Amino acid sequence: MTSNSSIYKKQTLSIDDYVDGILNKNRMILARAITLVESNAKEHIKIAQELMRRILPYSGNSIRIGITGVPGVGKSSFIETLGAYILEQGNKLAVLAIDPTSSISGGSILGDKTRMEKISRDERCFIRPSPSGGMLGGVARKTRESMLICEAAGFDIIFIETVGVGQNEITVRSMVDFFLLLMLSGAGDELQGIKKGIIEIADAILINKADGPNKPIAELARNEYERALHYISSATEGWKTHVYTCSALTGEGISEIWDVIQDFKIKTKESGIFASHRNSQRLEWLHRIIDEHLKYIFFKHPQIAESLPSFEKLVKDGKISPAEAAEKLINLLGI
Ligand code: GDP
Repeated sequence: MTSNSSIYKKQTLSIDDYVDGILNKNRMILARAITLVESNAKEHIKIAQELMRRILPYSGNSIRIGITGVPGVGKSSFIETLGAYILEQGNKLAVLAIDPTSSISGGSILGDKTRMEKISRDERCFIRPSPSGGMLGGVARKTRESMLICEAAGFDIIFIETVGVGQNEITVRSMVDFFLLLMLSGAGDELQGIKKGIIEIADAILINKADGPNKPIAELARNEYERALHYISSATEGWKTHVYTCSALTGEGISEIWDVIQDFKIKTKESGIFASHRNSQRLEWLHRIIDEHLKYIFFKHPQIAESLPSFEKLVKDGKISPAEAAEKLINLLGI
């Protein structure tokens, strides 16, 4: 890390200041660069784009790990415990979050409480809460760009944390190499709570809170989920998804899950799946950004903004078909 105090004090940073700061692992500049890419202000978007273009060649050298699970499953406790373990081994860890609640309500499930206190004090760890504002797609894009900036700053392990509710797991899946689903061993029918769609995209399922009297119950749940996996094809080609147990509280099972992730990295790098997966993710992101941009252009168009409410009413009242209304509105773009 550089400690160039004159740069700290500068109100406005040039692109070169940002790039040099990031490549020199200056945390202050790193944080400011992320604030820049998170900004929705027009004058920031252009600079952010240029910054991304400059740092792109230095990004990519990390393993990107998505971590999801319902509120209360123990995500922050798990990240704290696993994070401490991997920092001890000399790695540098960045933890980024995608919190759908922050984009919908302005509030946040992930960000409000004091989280991961121990690792957040570690020099080798960088934690950034979810950007707020905008649609989920926009929040996710900002997180993806923040991830690339963290990689350029030398962070070799990236965690992307999200709450397990709906669409956002799919979004996280599209930006990580390894996707980890945290679960609880609930009482009663273990399979009841399984959302098949989420299991299908997981590279490992980890039952947390396997400690004290809960340990044998967690073991039973592990067997049940393992059986359920027989009927589901793997999320990543050439890799078999398995179920594990751990306790974020006692640390039991933590080094084992890290070994699983290391094994995944070695195997998929050898087979070429790791690289081909990232290539297709880049394409997927291109298409997502185009979709988002087109939508933005559409809804910002003055004539469309003006006509939309009346078309919506006509469609709602059954006066014209949705298809016809959509076509008429799109025609207003004049393309
Ligand atoms: P998050 O909402 O998914 O981030 O969950 P938290 O990490 O905040 O954990 C929710 C609650 O579960 C907290 O009271 C934790 O202390 C507790 N907890 C987390 N992990 C474990 C664990 O492995 N064992 C036990 N017994 N409690 C845990």
